[in-house]
Amino acid sequence: MAEKQAQIKRKPARQPGSISSATPGTATPGTASSGAASSGAAGTRTVGVADRPIAVSVQGEAPVTSRQGWRSLDEIIGEQERIFIDRQPESARLAAQARDALAGGVTSSWQISRPQPVWLSHGRGSKLYDVDGHEYVDMHGGYGVALAGHAHPAIVAAVQRQVARGTHFAQPNRDALAVARELARRFELPLWRFANSGTEATMEAVHLMRAITGRDLIIKVEGCYHGHHDSVQVSVYPDPDEMGPADRPASVPSSTGIPRGVTDLTLVVGFNDLAAVDRLLHEHRGQIAGLILEPIMMNAGIILPEPGYLAGLKDLLHAHGALLSYDEVKTGLTAGPSGATGVTGVTPDIICLAKAIGGGVSVAAIGGTAEVMGYVARGDYEMVGTFSGNPLAMAATRAMLHEVATAQAYRRLDRLCQRAVDGVQREIARTGMAAHAVSVGAKGCIVFAAQPVRDFRDFLAINDSFSHAHWLFQHNGGVFLPPWGKSEQWLISVQHDETDIDRFIGNVAAFTSSVAGTAEAAGRNQ
Ligand code: PLP
Repeated sequence: MAEKQAQIKRKPARQPGSISSATPGTATPGTASSGAASSGAAGTRTVGVADRPIAVSVQGEAPVTSRQGWRSLDEIIGEQERIFIDRQPESARLAAQARDALAGGVTSSWQISRPQPVWLSHGRGSKLYDVDGHEYVDMHGGYGVALAGHAHPAIVAAVQRQVARGTHFAQPNRDALAVARELARRFELPLWRFANSGTEATMEAVHLMRAITGRDLIIKVEGCYHGHHDSVQVSVYPDPDEMGPADRPASVPSSTGIPRGVTDLTLVVGFNDLAAVDRLLHEHRGQIAGLILEPIMMNAGIILPEPGYLAGLKDLLHAHGALLSYDEVKTGLTAGPSGATGVTGVTPDIICLAKAIGGGVSVAAIGGTAEVMGYVARGDYEMVGTFSGNPLAMAATRAMLHEVATAQAYRRLDRLCQRAVDGVQREIARTGMAAHAVSVGAKGCIVFAAQPVRDFRDFLAINDSFSHAHWLFQHNGGVFLPPWGKSEQWLISVQHDETDIDRFIGNVAAFTSSVAGTAEAAGRNQ
């Protein structure tokens, strides 16, 4: 079977998340209906996860079978989009109405998706329901928020209790203290503050790095998304003709409305490229405040750090008096109980959390070393916000940490994620597609490339149409994935079960059977 999987050892104090990555060799389309098994020679190599190398088995050759007269990927996408639109007349009606009141007909620009935005009515457990009455297994998770699933009894009870006792005071309360203590235990950083969104959390991290060092320049990684504040809206998804050479990426603005002078203060490096960081630290000696990155990249599919990368970053930065910030907004509780920090074993100076930690309520947290947060404690940097530590958010977060994201829940998530990865790999092997599954904890994705992706430029080379077609097959088959093609991942919640995962795998089978014989799949997807 075209499959490699690995469990890595983690610090004993932390609960396991799991990382699997499976890679078939270069593939030629197989016969979808034949169930042809792969026959290549297996080998072993190290794909690397964080600072602990892992050995994985790699399949050699995929089945080689030629098929004539298959449809193109575009034709398959066109057909699936028609099915999609035909199923959702009420969504279409609301979308048309909404354009008169909501700019662009949506509440965030990233809700505009092809062929049309899906309007939802409610969620319960592992399921979502659209306004046309269709049920979906939710593996979108509201862009990685819904680790608790929907209407989890513990979150409902906590929120209901707090609503009846007042929703906002702008003063500290007991829940905030309990949350801070639990985050300190999980992430091994002693001091915490709260905010409302991932954007705010990473903005605080950047401010802190600059405030503490008195330096203006920061480094970010090409392809990492850290929210929509000016300093990090740089080279998130740069165009190939703007991004410059791989060893010296340009700083490309990722949004309009950001002054060039601000963009120029953010220097860019490739993921897994320690030499580039070393070079920048020498070229701008004494001017770089720190580096912010997603320790496991999750806005370009899932890209794992190579062994030694994160520890190497920390050493290099500290040697130059600069700081390391992790954006764990996505990985937070989803990669494992103590996020990518726990999975990789390298603790940074600052950690940013948001998304899943609030159990579906808007909240963010910023943790730091005693030295870093001493600046806040002494008032050398004022970390402020009317809604910071809001009682409703704190009640939900406390319930999430103590009652939902438990050791038992992570064991279940590991089992379900493994089932998803195994199913995906089985279907890839059966059809011989050039693809592989990557998963970390509750998150995973299918990468439509034969080889592991090491950085944003590898990722950019992948044909996004496969991901879009996969999304459509999943959606039309009753599974809701994030609509952003190859960039996003699935999220499995604590309320999912085997039947949910099997519906997902069934859709993967329908998708691979349909697209494996296209010309695009015949090795031209990279
Ligand atoms: N950081 C990462 C890694 C993200 O994926 C996101 C959002 O997707 C953010 C920060 C920004 O979070 P928010 O949308 O809550 O501001």
